[in-house]
Amino acid sequence: MNDLGLPPPRWMNPDLALYRDMVRRFVQTEVEPHEERWAQQQHVDRETWQKAGALGLLLADVPEAFGGAGGDFSHMAVLFEELALAGDRAFGVHVHAIAAHYLLNQGTPEQKARYLPQLASGEMIGAIAMSEPAAGSDLQGIRTRALLEDDGQHYRITGSKIFISNGYLADLIVVVARTDPRPEAGSRGLSLFLVETRQVQGFRVGRILDKLGQKGQDTCELYFDDVRVPANGLLGGVEGRGMAHLMSELPYERTMLAVSAQASIERALRLTVEHVKQRKAFGKALIELQNTRFKLAEVKTQAVVGRALVDDCICRLVAGTMDTTTASIAKLWLSEAEGRVIDECLQLFGGYGYMTEYPIARMYADARVQRIYGGTSEIMKEIIARSL
Ligand SMILES: Cc1cc2nc3c(=O)[nH]c(=O)nc-3n(C[C@H](O)[C@H](O)[C@H](O)COP(=O)(O)OP(=O)(O)OC[C@H]3O[C@@H](n4cnc5c(N)ncnc54)[C@H](O)[C@@H]3O)c2cc1C
Repeated sequence: MNDLGLPPPRWMNPDLALYRDMVRRFVQTEVEPHEERWAQQQHVDRETWQKAGALGLLLADVPEAFGGAGGDFSHMAVLFEELALAGDRAFGVHVHAIAAHYLLNQGTPEQKARYLPQLASGEMIGAIAMSEPAAGSDLQGIRTRALLEDDGQHYRITGSKIFISNGYLADLIVVVARTDPRPEAGSRGLSLFLVETRQVQGFRVGRILDKLGQKGQDTCELYFDDVRVPANGLLGGVEGRGMAHLMSELPYERTMLAVSAQASIERALRLTVEHVKQRKAFGKALIELQNTRFKLAEVKTQAVVGRALVDDCICRLVAGTMDTTTASIAKLWLSEAEGRVIDECLQLFGGYGYMTEYPIARMYADARVQRIYGGTSEIMKEIIARSL
């Protein structure tokens, strides 16, 4: 049991415990001291990416043959947990890892060999560009167009993207574009492209968007104006597989969001227990009031339930048996629980909870988007309902 009386993650083992110590030291020295500055500049330092890459943290679950650390998802889960336990929501390792997994699982041998080692070392930072002004939950609305030139050697990509995490720093963007514009093609008209952003003509990063929370994360608008991409930049080398590629990586993406949500729940509980033990009202510590005790009992119950769910998902992902429905259930339940828990915890801080110098206030703002990105809660319910 840990300090909150919560069971340790059941997938932990002595090797992972040592790995966690290393990750925690990295977060304490290379992430936490820079959060305020990152929030002001609206992005993480490139140097931080390279330091994480040098330690093998960025693609810990990618085989060594591709520059990864040869571990499995439990290693990535440790990184996501430690970042969330430290209150970080700026370092976009999550999206970077998803971009790498598109390559690992869907890329051609040449694409994997070219990009994965650079993504693993942090020399390249990855992003995924799906959302557009007219296409978020419903990717059928994607208008970005990729047109094959007559000689068959290049595509020309035209369109714009919005809300793209890591958008300012990204060197490699997985872009969803329409290769078949015929209405009857539907989602079979979508393909994924690997766009290198350095020195490419026609590509422009728009504003770093001013968000409610996650201030240090470079979420951007991106513009593609006749961007010329070699034909071998088509992910997997076959047109029309875009939606299938996206669907196949959803369990990974949603599980990682659930892992971060669970760690945030545990952090909120820990911060709040500390606060209510020392804050007094009516001659007593807040923790002695029945309301406080009941609220925190509910929070702890959610933390224990969440831990069981998320541990099950991590084990399934490691075993290769994770499915989209289960991952959607975890994303829905954990992100909703995170919102509920942080709101209840903030209340127990009183006015201090509303002050941004208090971590719980920042957690409140940072957590709100968990119910929106990676598929909204409503879309999760749609997916879960399809399994009935
Ligand atoms: C901080 C941040 C980072 C992001 N990072 C990325 C990124 O890196 N890459 C990327 O491509 N995108 C990213 N996104 C975009 C994100 O994935 C979308 O915002 C999300 O999918 C919702 O799309 P939307 O904003 O267009 O909302 P809409 O799709 O317009 O949805 C509006 C509302 O309608 C509801 N709704 C829609 N369809 C249905 C339905 N069928 N049934 C019931 N309700 C429905 C939604 O649940 C929501 O409540 C990011 C967004 C944010 C805010």
